[in-house]
Amino acid sequence: MMKKVLALILVVAMIASVAMLAGCGESKEESTSAATADSADAGKTYIIYSDNAFAPFEYLDTETNEYVGVDMDLMAAIAEDQGINYEMHNEGFDASMGAVQSGQADAMIAGMTITDERKETFDFSDAYFDDGQVIVAKEGTKLEDLNGKTVAAKTSTVGGEYAESIKDQYGFTINYYEGSDNMYQAVLTGTDAACVEDFSVIGYAIKSGEVDLSIISEEPANVKGYGFAVQKGKNAELVEKFNAGLANIKASGKYDEILAKYGY
Ligand code: GLN
Repeated sequence: MMKKVLALILVVAMIASVAMLAGCGESKEESTSAATADSADAGKTYIIYSDNAFAPFEYLDTETNEYVGVDMDLMAAIAEDQGINYEMHNEGFDASMGAVQSGQADAMIAGMTITDERKETFDFSDAYFDDGQVIVAKEGTKLEDLNGKTVAAKTSTVGGEYAESIKDQYGFTINYYEGSDNMYQAVLTGTDAACVEDFSVIGYAIKSGEVDLSIISEEPANVKGYGFAVQKGKNAELVEKFNAGLANIKASGKYDEILAKYGY
């Protein structure tokens, strides 16, 4: 089992490095620094929402009582590079989607997968990380064992969509949870036989010893990029700045440094 997990970690590491290499070739021409005085948005404080229990992308550091993670650090580095003022609200994934859609938030960064369906209501930045979904259960559980059982999925996520797409094949029904932490707990306590989660997130939780669960599906499904998102047609300048800042921190090595800090 451990070998399988290691092989999966390797696959994702390879995907991530291909994404990074692709990033290296990007032109730096658009890399404007700081909000210019003639910009209508200069001085504006953007409200940015995020998830709250999605390590290593965003999670509460219980020692400092602050949210940390890849997304938090990327946002800070890009904001510094581009002179973006922002306030971060770590409220959960579904809440972030709702806040952007209702206009309560200007943007979200929450390990959010860029999908064609979401592009109908969101505009996305360039992808900054690639990931797909896996099925996770107590060690020794097989996919066939899910027949007649319930599987945990997280509200509004692509993991939920993936679960919906395979539930008839494996004969399970789905219970939805607001947070990844609630979902893992439901599997650990036996409420649900398995859960669906982004591979790098559950991989991180397993590796850190936080959850004693195993990946039981073969390889990550539907691997796609994560993007920073705004409501469709709104805050285009913020997305442009995010992209310019992302290109700059990739070129400077800061992006690699952030990923390395969280074990990539
Ligand atoms: N990447 C998944 C999605 O976009 C999960 C995101 C999350 O739970 N924060 O649906």
